Amino acid sequence: MGQPSNLLLKLSRQLFAEDCDRAAFLEALVHPQLFSTAIVWMQPRPKQVPFAIASALPWQPAWVDRLRTNQRPGQHPLHQSGAYYCLDMASVFSAAVFSAIPTPGEAVLDLCAAPGGKSLLARQALGPKHLWCNEVIRKRVKILIANLKRCGATEALVFNLDPQIFAEQLPQAASVVLVDAPCSGQSLLAKGDSAPGCFHPVSIKKNARRQRRILAHATQTVAPGGYLAYMTCTFSPEENERVVAWLLRTFPQFEAVPVPALGDHASSLAPFPCYRLWPQSGLGAGGFTALLRNCGEGSESTRSDPINLEFLTARGMKIHAPVPPA
Ligand code: SAM
Repeated sequence: MGQPSNLLLKLSRQLFAEDCDRAAFLEALVHPQLFSTAIVWMQPRPKQVPFAIASALPWQPAWVDRLRTNQRPGQHPLHQSGAYYCLDMASVFSAAVFSAIPTPGEAVLDLCAAPGGKSLLARQALGPKHLWCNEVIRKRVKILIANLKRCGATEALVFNLDPQIFAEQLPQAASVVLVDAPCSGQSLLAKGDSAPGCFHPVSIKKNARRQRRILAHATQTVAPGGYLAYMTCTFSPEENERVVAWLLRTFPQFEAVPVPALGDHASSLAPFPCYRLWPQSGLGAGGFTALLRNCGEGSESTRSDPINLEFLTARGMKIHAPVPPA
């Protein structure tokens, strides 16, 4: 992209009051840069990490390393053996909301799971007894299973269902529900990928509608006292702050929870706690994240229905343990 389009200029005016912030944002999208890759250790970190490590960021968990640019951790034998999972720092940022969840939950439900990065981050951060990973698009289930299996998450159950089914079959069943929502993907531009039509109002509206639908179903699956994490990799307020504002209005038993680790990234576009990573920070291509708590009456142990084990057994695909290397 050489020059910002009119739609991008309009978005920048919506996001920033100051000219210098707007200019830095536009520059980051028009001239993509290389961002650090992160590795999430799934096995104990070896004494000698075979990569050059960049300094840790305040919201980076101890079991994540931020690598210096221009390294290829995906091609190292440790990757093949499942020692770590590679992802971008923006994903680590979004998942930093888990740091504000005080107790390890019984069950984590990831409604938009493929290829599996956030599920694995949730597993490391929260150590749940049950990890339920759903991907609605059938052809993406294979990579989800492959990643969970390679990384040793063999306790996970994988589903290929519309989120509505979880609302019906697993009411109030999960201590933590994760919605890493499909979105217009505007942050992809900051790393040089394409995202056709990502600033078009029709695309933004369509995504916001789909995000609200997924979240409406997600709210039904959160146990009393449990948490709902919502995140995207796009910048439009219509898909971020406004979706969360809609959720808080529509489901008043939910409240937005502050995440101290992300205090420096608080969004100025909402009156409730939620967080943004901007591409001009140089730390990652960008993202939005918010943590909501179901403050409805009761607790996980007093949920209205017992967990539907029959559904889990019938629809959950088991991950078979990886064969150890010879
Ligand atoms: N959480 C994943 C990770 O960290 O590896 C990335 C998820 S990606 C941002 C969004 C996912 O939502 C995609 O896998 C996409 O197939 C899925 N998706 C698309 N439409 C959906 C819908 N209507 N309901 C639930 N998930 C949907």
